[in-house]
Amino acid sequence: MSQSSRPVAQVVTPEPVVEGAGVHLRRSIGTRKLDHLDPFLLLDHFESVNPADYEAGFPYHPHRGIETVTLVRKGEVRHGDSLGHRGTIGAGDIQWMTSGSGILHEEMPQRRPEGIAGLQLWLNLPAREKMSPPKYRDLEASRLTETAAEGGARIRVIAGEAGDGRLAGPVEGLAVAPKFIDVTLPSGATFRETVPRGHTAFAYVDQGEVRFGPQQTSTHAPALVIFGDGDLVEASAGSSGGRFLLAAARPLHEPIARYGPFVMNTRAEIEQTLADLRTGNFIRKEPRDE
Ligand code: MN
Repeated sequence: MSQSSRPVAQVVTPEPVVEGAGVHLRRSIGTRKLDHLDPFLLLDHFESVNPADYEAGFPYHPHRGIETVTLVRKGEVRHGDSLGHRGTIGAGDIQWMTSGSGILHEEMPQRRPEGIAGLQLWLNLPAREKMSPPKYRDLEASRLTETAAEGGARIRVIAGEAGDGRLAGPVEGLAVAPKFIDVTLPSGATFRETVPRGHTAFAYVDQGEVRFGPQQTSTHAPALVIFGDGDLVEASAGSSGGRFLLAAARPLHEPIARYGPFVMNTRAEIEQTLADLRTGNFIRKEPRDE
């Protein structure tokens, strides 16, 4: 049985964007050039030691119809929401939020000597789950311990399986079957991991230099690397090593109607969302016992 290594289809240089109340970040998915990468809707990379770039944060704002996954590399993000959740996402932590029918939240990077660094990824929900109750998975760094993989890579499995099923991330059972692995490649290390055929797959390199695919395409952080189809993703470290998030998921092939923080399937559903906000029906009041 021969497995094919996924080729690099495209390398995207993230664009500078100012978002929230004035946060300077780099966006690679969710731009005019790359509207989405089904089922991924947005990818933002925030990284700065200058508080003026980040401390304005993202004051209270709504979401509907998506999941937001926030990985903090450095620093701290304070979080609060309309359901009464309060907390801090620190270095190594991941917050996986399913907005479902609606949530209002604030995400505020805290001024710290080390600054802030991290990623936020938006994952689409299938039509049948867009109006589901909001839900959180708080993945603390202690639950995401690093494992030594073959080839010298150090990996943290966030979602799905890795290493021929030997490892499993804490996030399972989602409709799009995400596979998310945080990969650190010391100098000289290599990495390979199977990804289901037909699933959308990308790597986001946020540190160092990493070579991908059968052509060993060299990429320098920050870079979004989009893979063509195949059975596995291969990577090797550049001279000083590197770090990337490998993300794969099953495409939904559903219509996308998008308006800022709301992503539905039709224009009418967006209009309904705005009407719900105006009339105070955005946050659903029904019991949330599951
Ligand atoms: Mn948000």
